[in-house]
Amino acid sequence: MRVITIANQKGGVGKTTTAINLATALAAIGKRVLLVDLDPQGNASTGLGVEKDERDVSSYDVLTERANVAEAAIATVVPELYLVPSTLDLLGLEMEISGAERRAYRLRDALLRHAETENAFDFVLMDCPPSLNLLTINAMAAADSVLVPLQCEFFALEGLSQLLQTVEEVRNSLNPSLDLHGIVLTMFDGRNNLAAQVVRDVRSFMGDSVYETVIPRNVRVSEAPSFGKPAILYDMKCPGSQAYIALASEVIQREKRLVAA
Ligand code: ADP
Ligand code: MG
Repeated sequence: MRVITIANQKGGVGKTTTAINLATALAAIGKRVLLVDLDPQGNASTGLGVEKDERDVSSYDVLTERANVAEAAIATVVPELYLVPSTLDLLGLEMEISGAERRAYRLRDALLRHAETENAFDFVLMDCPPSLNLLTINAMAAADSVLVPLQCEFFALEGLSQLLQTVEEVRNSLNPSLDLHGIVLTMFDGRNNLAAQVVRDVRSFMGDSVYETVIPRNVRVSEAPSFGKPAILYDMKCPGSQAYIALASEVIQREKRLVAA
């Protein structure tokens, strides 16, 4: 089992879109995949066609030890892709478990218990909320690596150093084997000179950490969630879907290197 946490404390940078479509692309090549929705907004759950009334057991229940992963994971519109949905209950989690022992390891413990069962997943992806709170810390403590979506906009790099510092802190305390998987540039608009400049700046600042694949801004990608489908199912041929498929193969390539290292 490999666990990838998708994090950026900025909202609207493409975390959820990346989580859904990367998970779909990995499932499409035959991997057994779990996506854990850790955002109280539940956009990943909605985008995978899981209605509010189907979210009886959620990531909140796993984090509060009311349910295990097998009880919380439900099938989605994508074969081989399972989802632990989220509910607004997550908003109260921090208060509820702030004094608990091993509060930062709730997800890790739950995932490791599940990995021992015969229904183990090949990949677990976590969709984080737009903050560096206890939910994101749980996701980083449980992960092998962190994947960071960055939107191609003027302030793209702002906040990145704080995020990388948090990864470093988690590595130094909770999870020494945590890697930076990579940075994916999202919502690239080729007609915009500034976007091309942002791509160059991020590449020169972050070097090889940045994936070759850049995700274009594509209206088909933004329409898909309202149909309860990943873009890759909604319109596999659109440029955004094709980019996410290319990203998935880069992710697999990097995984091989990370596992070997
Ligand atoms: P986050 O999870 O970081 O808040 P989202 O993935 O929800 O970000 O994306 C924010 C908004 O941008 C959503 O409305 C989403 O549909 C849209 N979006 C994301 N990626 C693309 C893209 N490649 N092309 C067009 N719209 C996109
Ligand atoms: Mg989101």
